[in-house]
Amino acid sequence: MAKPSSRAEALAAWFKAHARDLPWRRNPTAYRVWISEIMLQQTRVEAVREKYVAFLRRFPGLSALAQADEEAVLQAWSGLGYYRRARMLHAAAQKVVADHGGRFPRSMEEIRGLPGIGRYTAGAIASIAFNRPEPIVDGNVERVFARWHGMQGDIKGRKNQQRLWDLAQQWVEQGQAGGQHPRDLNQALMELGALVCTPRGPACGTCPVSAHCAAHKAGTPGAFPVRAEKSPRRGLRLWFAGLLDANGKVGLVRRVPGGPKSPLPLGLWELPHLPWPEGDQPAPSAELQRMLGVRLAPRGKALAVTHSIMDMNLTLVLQPFSLEGSPRFRHGFFRRFEPRHALVAAQSSATTKLLRELFA
Ligand code: SF4
Repeated sequence: MAKPSSRAEALAAWFKAHARDLPWRRNPTAYRVWISEIMLQQTRVEAVREKYVAFLRRFPGLSALAQADEEAVLQAWSGLGYYRRARMLHAAAQKVVADHGGRFPRSMEEIRGLPGIGRYTAGAIASIAFNRPEPIVDGNVERVFARWHGMQGDIKGRKNQQRLWDLAQQWVEQGQAGGQHPRDLNQALMELGALVCTPRGPACGTCPVSAHCAAHKAGTPGAFPVRAEKSPRRGLRLWFAGLLDANGKVGLVRRVPGGPKSPLPLGLWELPHLPWPEGDQPAPSAELQRMLGVRLAPRGKALAVTHSIMDMNLTLVLQPFSLEGSPRFRHGFFRRFEPRHALVAAQSSATTKLLRELFA
């Protein structure tokens, strides 16, 4: 067999031979690609794989998703975190039904007009589902291009970001002119970054495009991409009430906008909580009782667990209480749950962690 004559040809051939069999790659309709791309933002492929199949089973198409209750969508999203993505997905499905007759739009302008869809996701949908020569730049593409071209300076800087999008545009347009499919060209780049050109220990010895790579030639792939130093993560302590009634049910609340500040996502079921600044201040027990409109009797000792969320390191202090009377939560809804139902309600991973501690 003749050797591929260009980088695009070599990488597309490699992709055909080595691409992982991922559920969203089978039958890549716009709906299926869109759901997968939103799930894959900030979440590992392995964590998404199972959730994706279950989500598609529950909401097999746009109209099923558009018609669902928000709570059902959040519940199907449980475990993936960053719940804003699920809300946007739901809102976008409703917009497609309302504005586009239930058919996923094809123009970049209309795709980008949907809630939660930015430049990358629009490019991924247009190229993978519609096979159009639209560029994409994600973390994998960023790393691969930075190494191929030996890009200097902070990769997140404005100039470098502009250059990355220009390179991605040239990549997909020139590759298409050379006879390759845009969907293969873009996915091949990302797959190379995920499987071969990995952040640590890139496998340059097996890389199909090593002959075209500046970082490999210089023997310095680990030096790319260049990143500015990160500012340290913020720390925050929160105090949670583990409300258990005489029947072993747990009291959870669902906050609406306008209540006390919390880094946990709004609209999910959670244990009532308040910030508890570090220092000698007593736990904000009285304020929490006012917020719930009941008196609470501590039940055993408090315990603390740590949790990371976005750019924060959280200390979650959990105080179990015996729940008597009927709370009236001032900032949203209150409901009692059997423990097994509480664990599958729409909730953040911080709440799951605390509930497991409470039921242990
Ligand atoms: S040669 Fe190495 S550094 Fe260059 S693209 Fe391939 S795996 Fe990445």
